[in-house]
Amino acid sequence: MEYTVIYDDLPSFIEGCTRDFGLSVHISLEGLSLLFDAGSRPEVLLKNSRTAGLDLSKIRLVVVSHPHTDHTGGLKALASGGPTVYVPHGQHKGLQEWLNLIGLKEVVVVKGVRELYRGVYVIPFPESQISEQALLVESGGGYTMFVGCSHPGVHYMVGRAVEEGFKVERVVGGLHLSGQPEYKARATVMELKRLGVKELLPLHCSGDLVLQYANLLGMLREKPSLCKTYRA
Ligand SMILES: [Zn+2]
Ligand SMILES: [Zn+2]
Repeated sequence: MEYTVIYDDLPSFIEGCTRDFGLSVHISLEGLSLLFDAGSRPEVLLKNSRTAGLDLSKIRLVVVSHPHTDHTGGLKALASGGPTVYVPHGQHKGLQEWLNLIGLKEVVVVKGVRELYRGVYVIPFPESQISEQALLVESGGGYTMFVGCSHPGVHYMVGRAVEEGFKVERVVGGLHLSGQPEYKARATVMELKRLGVKELLPLHCSGDLVLQYANLLGMLREKPSLCKTYRA
């Protein structure tokens, strides 16, 4: 499995990618390209994916973590490929209608843990105030969990996935600890380690303290960068 950060405000690994607030990760598996979130602006999503050598028209599945604009605005760039879009169940009235309006006709509302493809699952958290869902992709016997903003709390989300039987070894995405007190970042990273997570790739709204603690606990294997491809 390979995954490329194609939308974030992180410094870029290669020349020509535009840094912007939001999150999108392109994931390639044998025989499948999928997208987790779509960033804020369609033109930036298109430009960054092209620069990273990725073709958005090949995307078959899109998983939307939650409907905040910094995760959904770029979806307009995908309409021509006609992918199936999986959206979280919860309080997101009108999301499906908006997706249809911008040309995405295949929309599936996820109400429980669901297998999208061999070794690819979505897990929803509709009980949270801002309901969100995460993507789980299996490789080498463990799972990489992709998270959008972690509004329900990343420790809670990973804990639930572990309860559901997923051996979560790696967490990639927004951990929503930017601007939070130090003790929260520290306790969260320690709890993730206790839950069996070996590696963190904090992106988007994670904050610098998470990076420091992940590094301290030996969980930061690679530096988070825009337009960089990682292998798992
Ligand atoms: Zn959000
Ligand atoms: Zn966000």
